[in-house]
Amino acid sequence: MEREELAPHVSEIARVLKGKIEESEIWKELDTYLNHYRVSLETAKRGIVKKFGGDPGALTKGVRKPIQQLALNEQSVDILAKVVTVNPKDIEVEGKSKSILYGILGDESGTIPYTAWDADRFPLQKGEVVLIRNAYTKEWGGQPQVNLGSRASVEPQPADSVKLPEGAPRAFPDIGEVKISQLRENMGGVTVTARVLGIEKREVEVSGEKRIVFSGAMADETGKVQFSAWYDFDLKRNDLVTVRGAYVKSWRGIPQLNFGERSQVMRPGIKFPSSSELAEAKARSIGDMEKVGGGVDVLVRGTVVEVRKGSGLIFRCPECNRVVQKNACRIHGNVQALPDLRIKAVVDDGFATMTAVMNRRMTESIMGTTLDDSLRLAKEAMNPDVILERIDERLFAQPIEVTGNVTSDEYGLMMIVSDAKISTPEVRGEATTLLTRLEGSS
Ligand SMILES: [Zn+2]
Repeated sequence: MEREELAPHVSEIARVLKGKIEESEIWKELDTYLNHYRVSLETAKRGIVKKFGGDPGALTKGVRKPIQQLALNEQSVDILAKVVTVNPKDIEVEGKSKSILYGILGDESGTIPYTAWDADRFPLQKGEVVLIRNAYTKEWGGQPQVNLGSRASVEPQPADSVKLPEGAPRAFPDIGEVKISQLRENMGGVTVTARVLGIEKREVEVSGEKRIVFSGAMADETGKVQFSAWYDFDLKRNDLVTVRGAYVKSWRGIPQLNFGERSQVMRPGIKFPSSSELAEAKARSIGDMEKVGGGVDVLVRGTVVEVRKGSGLIFRCPECNRVVQKNACRIHGNVQALPDLRIKAVVDDGFATMTAVMNRRMTESIMGTTLDDSLRLAKEAMNPDVILERIDERLFAQPIEVTGNVTSDEYGLMMIVSDAKISTPEVRGEATTLLTRLEGSS
């Protein structure tokens, strides 16, 4: 290997050994390892560092990645980047005040947030180009963030060695504008135009760290979605926004839109339905929701094809709310169980099915009876199953309109019903057609 090629490796060994030996000594050592022992450069470097009491782990593994390719959990990575922004911050570590820097790094492929955990060791300047060695990444709101820790080093580079592309670099390959009803789990780089229906600021803990998140719901003409903004974009209720570079993650069985520092939020001056128009639940097909894995505040029109066992008058453990048989909870033993009503109905819209779960209030409203009525009836018949029979009589094969959040898991789709009604006669015609088609007689 040429002397010129080896020079950066000699400086690196010197850096890791922090002046324990002279560079001329390192040259001699390297020559011995490479030409006498005939080992690889990698092994030679590790051998020399070890021999002089350094930490071979502090050597770069030589993996340099463009920002776009950084994964969520890089252990040791080199990054050649331009320092786009630098912000100082004082933090408290074990009772002592410490200055750190945070901001954005950029290269031809994209941008990424960083934290340099020591402002003195990493005097980053806005606009300079640096080669960062031995950085690591951590997940931050679902996206990687670069960290410069105790093993990292920063070497200044010529200013023209990184040229940021014109305009804002993209964090993810942009898959373009997507309607809310099309958002499905693990989509990245989506652009969504929607109106903010509600928003609240919360403090949450993500992998042991406290973070501020702005979460709420937004809607377009196809539906609603819950969102989490991991950065303060100054979003307000009723704002119309275009979010670029967002990604979708499933949260409690429903696709949720996430965006953070690497995303862009714009306020387009276009005509768009008002919040009150968007507040209404949108009708969607069960098949569509199967494709994307659930949805928020969805209206489904279908037919009840089964009232499942476990519907009707049930008893719950007062401790854990589990349904109990004969006053015995499988966790809490004998308990004074509390009566409750519920319906688990399989709803079919002619293309797919989901389970609609109705709580006591919904059950009372759709059956036109109260829990007390049901308890009395069950007592008279000396059999709680009479309530299930009544529900079956009332709902089976009936066209129904249910509204609620639809979640998905390995058992399929389930709606927690917030509103239900037996369809009006006009809609019933349509539902009958669907049922007929279901039975294959048309
Ligand atoms: Zn219990």
